[in-house]
Amino acid sequence: MMRQYELVERVTRYNAEADEALLNKAYVYAMQKHGMQKRDSGDLYFSHPLEVAAILTELKLDESTIAVALLHDTIEDTDATRNEIDDLFGERIGELVEGLTKIKRLDLVSKKTEQAEHLRRLLLAVSDDIRVLLVKLADRLHNMRTLHHVPVHKRARIAQETMEIYAPLAGRMGMQGMRDELEELAFSHLNPQAHETVTGHLAELAEKNKNLIYEITTDLREKLREHDIDADVNSRQKKPYSVFRKMEHKALAFEQLSDIFGFRILLGDEEDCYRTLGLVHTRWQMVPGRFKDFISTPKQNGYQSIHTTVIGPSSQRVELQIRTRQMHEVAEYGVAAHTVYKDLHSGASNGAQSMDAYSTLRRTIEQLAEGANPEEFLEHTKLELFLDQVFCFTPKGRIIALPKGATPIDFAYAVHTDVGNSCVGCKVNGQIMPVITQLSNGDEVEIIRSKAQLPPAAWESVVVTGKARSAIRKASRDAIRKQYSGLGARILERAFDRAGKPFDREAIDAALSRLARTSVDDVLTDVGRGELPSPDVLRAVFPDYKDERATAKPAAKEEGWFGLKAGAGMIFRFPGSRRRARKDADDKGDDDSGAIPIRGVGGELPVRFSQSGGAVPGDRIVGIVEPGQGITIFPIESPVLKHFEDQPDRWLDVRWDIDENDRQRFPATIKLSAINEPGTLATIAEVIANNDGNIHNLSMSAQSSDFTDMAIDMEVWDLNHLNRIIHQLAKKPVVSVVERVTG
Ligand code: MN
Repeated sequence: MMRQYELVERVTRYNAEADEALLNKAYVYAMQKHGMQKRDSGDLYFSHPLEVAAILTELKLDESTIAVALLHDTIEDTDATRNEIDDLFGERIGELVEGLTKIKRLDLVSKKTEQAEHLRRLLLAVSDDIRVLLVKLADRLHNMRTLHHVPVHKRARIAQETMEIYAPLAGRMGMQGMRDELEELAFSHLNPQAHETVTGHLAELAEKNKNLIYEITTDLREKLREHDIDADVNSRQKKPYSVFRKMEHKALAFEQLSDIFGFRILLGDEEDCYRTLGLVHTRWQMVPGRFKDFISTPKQNGYQSIHTTVIGPSSQRVELQIRTRQMHEVAEYGVAAHTVYKDLHSGASNGAQSMDAYSTLRRTIEQLAEGANPEEFLEHTKLELFLDQVFCFTPKGRIIALPKGATPIDFAYAVHTDVGNSCVGCKVNGQIMPVITQLSNGDEVEIIRSKAQLPPAAWESVVVTGKARSAIRKASRDAIRKQYSGLGARILERAFDRAGKPFDREAIDAALSRLARTSVDDVLTDVGRGELPSPDVLRAVFPDYKDERATAKPAAKEEGWFGLKAGAGMIFRFPGSRRRARKDADDKGDDDSGAIPIRGVGGELPVRFSQSGGAVPGDRIVGIVEPGQGITIFPIESPVLKHFEDQPDRWLDVRWDIDENDRQRFPATIKLSAINEPGTLATIAEVIANNDGNIHNLSMSAQSSDFTDMAIDMEVWDLNHLNRIIHQLAKKPVVSVVERVTG
């Protein structure tokens, strides 16, 4: 393991002014924090951050970056905290280490190809400083170098992720050396057989062409010396992965690849590059179409070089790269090289100025991340979109990309519509938070779900994604539609029953064209809404059906049941009802067997209560279908019902079905006369409040100077509750008369 002074020395070798105290402090802190933790290789864990730091010294990075490399796993893997790091090393370093902690979650992500771009973007979004990315790449490089120690079943995923995300990222940052090594390591794990075959072939070829390579190198060196050009000439062999990719891409056999060998000529300045090019093209015949001048027109990631291919001795194709030494360094180290040059040239080795250099670089990176292709302009437009995004995680590590300002509700719908529709709460980074919280990059979001939940319509104005908004709209539309279709089914069952016909969905289905509807559900819904009268459905299904009651007087009137007070043991017969004659009614032995259960508002049926007096559990009730509004529930004694006497189709047989675990209050109205004196109103309000009644509305009118009449709309639990309140009010001396209003 590298000693403390060795690391410091590596840094001071390229930066004499480096803050040695910072490096020493970070070394000691990380070593103590990781303590006796071990890696899969059996080495002390601390050897890992140390190696990561060492890789970054090769890129000649500043001491803060090296310190961050040493500390990069402390928050995630030890008891170190952000606060502690802030206190010891300053907030900036704390931020960088935290950024790396966030990215570390990426390593836990189970990868899908479609996520690759998201991941790449997340990397950028959470790295608000280029140094985070540099440390992350070095971290990944060291992990890849030691991947053979990791349990076999984990290797493929890490190698895949390296191939799909980290290697291209290094490439986009212009770090060719880093990219090559990451690719080669990943390749050797992902496709060991191909890797072995290609490597073997390459070694054979190198052996076979040893003399040829020597000949060309010598020839080039002599030519350049003759012309007084100071140059380094090196032969280079293509990397196994790039050979393999070419074979796959062009469907070629190894033997068919012509440009496996190349030579690189490094020179002092640009002028020498062009002079060398002239010499090469004079000496050997060039291959048309292979010449590229990236010196006058650099690649988007800053790469500069001249590429050409010539026919060498033995008629072999020879690839040549001609560039200055500085261009070479940029090609190898990319952004990192820029950083060093910038710092050295501006004379600033640390502090504000170098921060500036980094922030400029960061913008470059963002552009690079979008790839170097002809649609550069479009790509930059896309970039703006991406800056408007936040990236969050599911607890299992899946990444969800959302627009800025998105809430956990948006997140839930982005995961799945069902998750959104059943969302009742959320945890953000393990803490219960309101579902309208704005999410930040890297947040882990857990959605709390409940089956019975319908998305509140108010969410529609809170969410920012179109998907969530339309899903919420659709869910409430669906819920309302379901209510109406349920009600329609009840109405039709009853209508068919009264007509002595079996209720049969298939029969309705067969009659759809006559009903001008496209589905049975449409029929049920429209009946429920009151837009399609049930006799129309009967006539469509049974063409010989005649609605006898359309002309006959309602039976109820003859029975004279209006005006009767509801009471225990009373049997009500609805107008024209034949339900009692039905066989299955006897089987169930229950008077209410066919009645529609009423639970309250917001349930499965579109229910409301009499606007004039309400209705409460304990009341004998009937339902009246109101077109487009569902059912209105009336106490049986309500005088309002008289208006519906001659419309038997609108009457529904209903019964209370109160869920003791989910009780609701119900509306009821009372009127009373009270003595007109100070404190009367307070007395009345107090009685109602003390008896757990809610006053909803109250109107007063003075009948005389002595008495005031009041109408009070209340919400109560049931008839007993209502009667108790009335009884308590009646006992008060200030109250002369009190009674319930039913219409
Ligand atoms: Mn690490």
